[in-house]
Amino acid sequence: MNRTRSNELYEQALQHIVGGVNSPSRSFKAVGGGAPVFMQKANGAYFWDVDGNRYIDYLAAYGPIILGHAHPHVTEAITRAAANGTLYGTPTELEIDFARMLKEAIPSLDKVRFVNSGTEAVMSTIRVARAYTGRAKIIKFAGCYHGHSDLVLVAAGSGPSTLGIPDSAGIPLSLASEVITVPFNDLAALEEALAVWGGETAAVMVEPIVGNFGMVMPKPGFLEGLCRLARAHGALVIYDEVITAFRFHYGSAQTYAGLPLETPGGWDAVQPDLTALGKIIGGGLPIGAYGGRREIMEQVAPLGPAYQAGTMAGNPASIAAGIACLQALREPGTYARLESLAAALADGLSAAARRHGIALTVNRIGGAFSTHFCDHPVTNYDEAQDTDGERFAQFFRLMLEQGVCLAPSKYEAWFLTTAHTEDDTAATLAAAERAFAEMAK
Ligand code: PLP
Repeated sequence: MNRTRSNELYEQALQHIVGGVNSPSRSFKAVGGGAPVFMQKANGAYFWDVDGNRYIDYLAAYGPIILGHAHPHVTEAITRAAANGTLYGTPTELEIDFARMLKEAIPSLDKVRFVNSGTEAVMSTIRVARAYTGRAKIIKFAGCYHGHSDLVLVAAGSGPSTLGIPDSAGIPLSLASEVITVPFNDLAALEEALAVWGGETAAVMVEPIVGNFGMVMPKPGFLEGLCRLARAHGALVIYDEVITAFRFHYGSAQTYAGLPLETPGGWDAVQPDLTALGKIIGGGLPIGAYGGRREIMEQVAPLGPAYQAGTMAGNPASIAAGIACLQALREPGTYARLESLAAALADGLSAAARRHGIALTVNRIGGAFSTHFCDHPVTNYDEAQDTDGERFAQFFRLMLEQGVCLAPSKYEAWFLTTAHTEDDTAATLAAAERAFAEMAK
């Protein structure tokens, strides 16, 4: 595949844009380096790069593009919004309509506030939780990503009861020390951390279904236990549903029928106090939102003392795109179709890997899945790390050469969109068969 123009543009980009990319996840550093592919246009399930090569897209922009690229209903909504002015700095009726739609789909939201990204949404939930509880500490889970803010870019200390260390230069130790990181799916570790820090903990924050070290389900009883333990210590529960909301069904993970519950309390026992949203709810434009219980959300200015604001927040184009996206997702059969496409692809990949003697664990949840080059299950971050990154890099490149675009990281998911067809998944499986044959040599 000729990518001369991409290579040239990368050289130029390196001179003007730090690292040549506007988000580190777009670089090919984790898959052996070199120029990332510069895309020129996208439509439906496909990308075309600047050299004219076509790719089947499973990156879906790291999640938001669940309807495929340039979906006509979303494009029309954005065009209409743009024609009426893109930013007012005043409230609009559409914001109410959209808040109502989110509340109907996610019952734990009494009140919401729109922001501009998932990072902002998470930051805001933390501020509100701290304001409401008067406490500072946050407990999070290893490998769960909650955006790039100082507040949560924190790695585990050396044990469940130790304080966090910054995961990035530029974050003061004092801030990181307000965060405690414990392993996902490990209630005993959470209990231990709460036994030490429970009285100071404002919130336990979790991706209720993990999307950031592959797709990982909570074990039966994990979310219920998390909610019970947090509440026993007077801490709030924050679900980061930036990836998961509207991904698996029309709603969020907190009411997803595929969730393994072992709880007499049913759904009530796993409801969070606050939820952070983003990605899909913007229909491909920048957005975030957060919401939750009325008395907690009423801490936020102008009602309460927790300040949070945004010039671009609730801008008409993002709101219109989000409404249009959710309207399209409400079409009957949408999620069943995403799931059946993903199942065919995930099962086909497992079978092809087996045929070639390649160890591969595939974690599929609804219309998304992750591929881990290992011979053990992946249920937490340690297990996700203990996989063969070089094998993934080789697979990634062999697929790219055949026109299949995956995220350039062994931790990222494959996302199906409503634009993918059975022909696309069949072509992808044929490419994977050739890739595995090459890898087995
Ligand atoms: N939370 C989760 C679970 C995410 O996966 C991400 C981004 O990947 C974020 C928060 C941050 O969202 P954004 O990139 O829109 O700031």
